[in-house]
Amino acid sequence: MSIDILDWKSERDADGIHWLILDKQDSATNVLSVSILEQLDALLDEIERELPRAVVIRSGKRSGFIAGADVNEFLDVSNTQEAMIMVKRGQKLMNRIEKLSCTTVALIEGFCMGGGTELALACDYRIALDEDSTRIGLPEVKLGIHPAYGGVVRATRLVNPQHSLEMMLSGRALRPRQARKIGLVDLVQPRRQLERAARQVALKPPARQKMPWLGRLLSLPGIRHLLASYMRSQVARKAPRQHYPAPYAILDLWASFCGDRRRMMEEEAHSVSRLIQGNKVRNLIRVFFLQTRLKGLGDKKAFQPQHVHVIGAGTMGGDIAAWCALRGFQVTLQDREAKYLGNAFKRAHALFAKRIRDTAARNAAIDRLIPDVAGDGVARADVVIEAIYENTEAKHAIYREIEPRMKPGAVLATNTSSIPLEELATVLVEPDRLVGIHFFNPVAMMPLVEIVRTESSSPETIERAIAFTQHIGKLPLPVRSSPGFLVNRILMPYLVEAFFLYDEGVAPEAIDKAATDFGMPMGPVELADTVGLDICQSVAQNLSQAFAIELPKGLKAFVDSKKLGKKSGRGFYQYKKGKPIKDRDADLGDQKVIQARLLGRFLNEAVACLQEAIVDDRDLLDAGVIFGTGFAPFRGGPLNHAAQEGVDTVLASLQGLEANHGERFKAVDGWSMLAD
Ligand code: NAD
Repeated sequence: MSIDILDWKSERDADGIHWLILDKQDSATNVLSVSILEQLDALLDEIERELPRAVVIRSGKRSGFIAGADVNEFLDVSNTQEAMIMVKRGQKLMNRIEKLSCTTVALIEGFCMGGGTELALACDYRIALDEDSTRIGLPEVKLGIHPAYGGVVRATRLVNPQHSLEMMLSGRALRPRQARKIGLVDLVQPRRQLERAARQVALKPPARQKMPWLGRLLSLPGIRHLLASYMRSQVARKAPRQHYPAPYAILDLWASFCGDRRRMMEEEAHSVSRLIQGNKVRNLIRVFFLQTRLKGLGDKKAFQPQHVHVIGAGTMGGDIAAWCALRGFQVTLQDREAKYLGNAFKRAHALFAKRIRDTAARNAAIDRLIPDVAGDGVARADVVIEAIYENTEAKHAIYREIEPRMKPGAVLATNTSSIPLEELATVLVEPDRLVGIHFFNPVAMMPLVEIVRTESSSPETIERAIAFTQHIGKLPLPVRSSPGFLVNRILMPYLVEAFFLYDEGVAPEAIDKAATDFGMPMGPVELADTVGLDICQSVAQNLSQAFAIELPKGLKAFVDSKKLGKKSGRGFYQYKKGKPIKDRDADLGDQKVIQARLLGRFLNEAVACLQEAIVDDRDLLDAGVIFGTGFAPFRGGPLNHAAQEGVDTVLASLQGLEANHGERFKAVDGWSMLAD
């Protein structure tokens, strides 16, 4: 029997194994759209009519199994009822697969996410391809929801809940061997044996995996509630319930209904149908698409750099070099003298130790990072990144010296935060090869890199810089050269407002709480302490020259007395073992006003950047701010948030703030661009 319908290939072989092969038409990736589920439903009718010995579900695409549900379809859901219909349809289908009275096997190659993993969980056996490209996960929390096709029920019944819950709460995808270790998959096989393994399992099914005893123990009512409450407290450290209800919903579901399968399924459906309402999920889906857009910029294939030379082994240069070596590049690292390199290498080794488990691979990364005081690497490098201290003459001296030695076509990048690139380019014979590749601190943690172009940067240079950024696994954001570029420019007025509030006697705890309650990952006072108050002051001074930003006094007093923040153990907060000591009893003041002031400055500056075309469009602006500052992702970016709040509402708030606190809150002209 062989029936092909649209996206599924369906064939029965001589051994009686029915192969269901998903190959979504006109798409590079398989997603479980409504149409694909309907087709599968129809195929199951056929299969049930004439039962095979076994069913094997696999992908027809080499790139992956199934990337998840079609998130575009979530956007069409406008009420709980519609959500319930969608979820129930998926649950019913998965139940049908689970109930088939023949053996069912999922053959997983490449990405297997969300609904794909739920489908695999509904099968009797899961076999995964043992390659680095294979990843299995339930990342729904990243979109503000949780598995809904019975995934929470099945994952916590099969796998020790410590692991299955952790996987769902973090949204982290597992490599095949990790998945095997926790019992999420039954077998891990190299490509050449994959099909044979599937055939063998299909024809001679081994004993099914069972939840290990520890998992069963942890699922007992008393222990289960304890574990859930511990996990809730862990989640609360990173994701407050008011903003991120999905992980809590997973824990509530499991704690309340584990053991009552039918009820848990029902509640799983209800829970997701509730979560999917409102703007949060929409905004998180927006963030997902924005990230996809940044990941898709440029053409990675058109520029294949091998060697990166970094000049300046300080905070930034050292970490940039380490990151590039981690990502597989040959890296030479230059500083004035060997003694300035030591610290950078120490940090690099710590990074490799943390990120690379395999000893041989870790040693290879160590070998790729080469000290190069003489700067010999310049002549071999495809990308040269200058990250010496912020001084025009010193940077000029370096450029004069290295330009004649650079390979034709090699990119010359500066990591400067504040010196205009036009000024830096004046000493170059070929100014068109200079581009800003502006990393953020800490390099390993921050996903975004601003790609700064001047009038004279050539399109090829920009394309190469973007491609390079993709190769090192960062998100490139093309920006126009202008003081502060995008991210620092928007952050600074917000930080300055926090300093004003402090000068007025508002407790740092009150300022930070207003920001974190809004959804910022860290309050502005703690952020300033973390970045370093000296750095904040210098960026603020630079920007204040360009944009007439009034600077509060308190900041200078801190810097003058060498209270520089976290790095010196004292800034706005006192630090103990790198953690700020916060006064739990601090007076929280008028939180509404504090929040309005911080946000007012932030949004107004974002609109100013839109108006000045610092980035090409609104989406890029929101993307840059989310990935560059961590701006509350569930709000979809500052411009999206302003639009959702209503431009008139924000303008009225700014007007009130201007009347009470002065000119700095005056709405910029660009707000009319958001009015449509
Ligand atoms: P840093 O002071 O920590 O390091 C600068 C390094 O450059 C030092 O190791 C110094 O010895 C070396 N150096 C100075 N002159 C040199 C020369 N002629 N040849 C070789 N090496 C030389 O500075 P940093 O914080 O890493 O900043 C470096 C650049 O990155 C600056 O342009 C800064 O604006 C930018 N930046 C900094 C941050 C941050 O948070 N620190 C963030 C983004 C960008």
